[in-house]
Amino acid sequence: MSELSQDRLDQESRDITLDVRDLKVHYPITSGLTRRVTGHVRAVDGVSFSIGRGNTMALVGESGCGKSTTGRAVLRLTPKTSGEVIFNGTEIYSLDKRELRRMRPKAQIIFQDPYSSLSPRLPISEIIGEAVREHNIVPPEEYEDYLDQVMESCGLRSFYKRRYPHEFSGGQRQRVCIARAVAVKPDFIVCDEPVSALDVSIQAQIINLLMDLRDERRLTYLFISHDLSVVEHISDAVAVMYLGDIVEYAPTDAIFARPIHPYTEALFSAIPLPDPEVKTNRIILTGSLPSPANPPSGCKFHTRCPRAEKECSEITPKTKEAEAGHFVSCLLA
Ligand code: SF4
Repeated sequence: MSELSQDRLDQESRDITLDVRDLKVHYPITSGLTRRVTGHVRAVDGVSFSIGRGNTMALVGESGCGKSTTGRAVLRLTPKTSGEVIFNGTEIYSLDKRELRRMRPKAQIIFQDPYSSLSPRLPISEIIGEAVREHNIVPPEEYEDYLDQVMESCGLRSFYKRRYPHEFSGGQRQRVCIARAVAVKPDFIVCDEPVSALDVSIQAQIINLLMDLRDERRLTYLFISHDLSVVEHISDAVAVMYLGDIVEYAPTDAIFARPIHPYTEALFSAIPLPDPEVKTNRIILTGSLPSPANPPSGCKFHTRCPRAEKECSEITPKTKEAEAGHFVSCLLA
């Protein structure tokens, strides 16, 4: 390989924070005294995507489609079945215990429920600062000032330090979770439904905070959400998941302007419009999400798809590039 193309490849891998290739997470179903494996729940069934440094990719879909499992698997918080998760150029499942511990501060997660993800017995200075000390993020003499600075950057006054989580509102508690995540100077954060447990009036403040921090610190986000209005606001690209697969992936503008997959069309038709005079053509999907332990044959969406044809139950659609950068898995696309 020429020096020039090696340089280009090195540059590309520096610009990609997360590269996920054919990731599968299957959980065995066991039965009987001998715990014989009788099947598998295919929570994530071969997803591939990459996120450039400083970008936000949203993962959307109904509850149970595999979004959160994907988020946990890319952080190695749940074991993968197969596939690759390359973070900052390294396959994270190849790391030994010590290397993984060194990597941990660089990839963080913010959970949906800020209350249950904070220890009620610790003051917030300890919640935010514990990992900072553990990983020697700053020299000991700078620790207190650094903590104040992180708290201020997340909209928390430094005199809150000695307070406990129950003394804060839901929005402030989520700010504490965000401060805990950014305090260890990460490159990448999985935001798992970070605003869905909050009042609508607080959601915008938290989203704006996440965007400010991303821009200031050049953070990369995997933003998991079922709220498409929020997704449109924060993300650069959107991946739509259905029953463990990514069925459509595109830059945010493109997918909101022209969703192609029938499932994406149905999801997007449910977004409320700000003008009450404008009539929406809501597509109501019939039936519920099939079990990931026994997914339908062919296209997994055929049991609910308003456009399904005979071959949809027989042929598994391949992912096609319908237009530049816009990928879709549908036989009719
Ligand atoms: Fe619908 Fe068939 Fe396309 Fe699947 S392949 S989304 S069932 S039209």
